[in-house]
Amino acid sequence: MNCLFCNIVKKEIPAEVIDEDGETLAFLDINPRAPGHTMVVPKKHYEILSDVPNEELGSLFRGVKRVAKRITEALGANGLTIGINQGRASGQVVEHLHIHLIPRFTDDGGTSLHSVVHNAPKESLEAIASKIRGERKK
Ligand code: 5GP
Ligand code: ZN
Repeated sequence: MNCLFCNIVKKEIPAEVIDEDGETLAFLDINPRAPGHTMVVPKKHYEILSDVPNEELGSLFRGVKRVAKRITEALGANGLTIGINQGRASGQVVEHLHIHLIPRFTDDGGTSLHSVVHNAPKESLEAIASKIRGERKK
């Protein structure tokens, strides 16, 4: 399988790496939405979050925490938008799990995660929660 981010992890494709440990790599997005737009990836190939074994989740999120602190301090960001595009429907293009960290600055003109979609549910919250909990219809 030829995966772009696996190739970046193997250093076969150049990237601006800003953080690395045994399990994770963080590098700047080639098409940044803001200065310091970074992606944290597990070094092992997983397509989506639920593919990551539980024992590897800690190191991944420690990587996110470390990078969040680094880019906030180095660039003087006032906040961060942190997110995953999971699956094509959400906009995932590279099929190797990556967590976006987008530095946010006061009055940068951006919006919040709430604006990624406007698809108000037609069912009640109760009905949706019941479905997710796996309850049978009465
Ligand atoms: P997705 O839409 O899958 O969440 O985001 C993939 C991200 O990978 C995009 O933001 C895109 O700019 C970035 N990207 C695509 N190709 C490359 C590359 O070769 N190098 C780097 N550093 N980033 C890339
Ligand atoms: Zn990969």
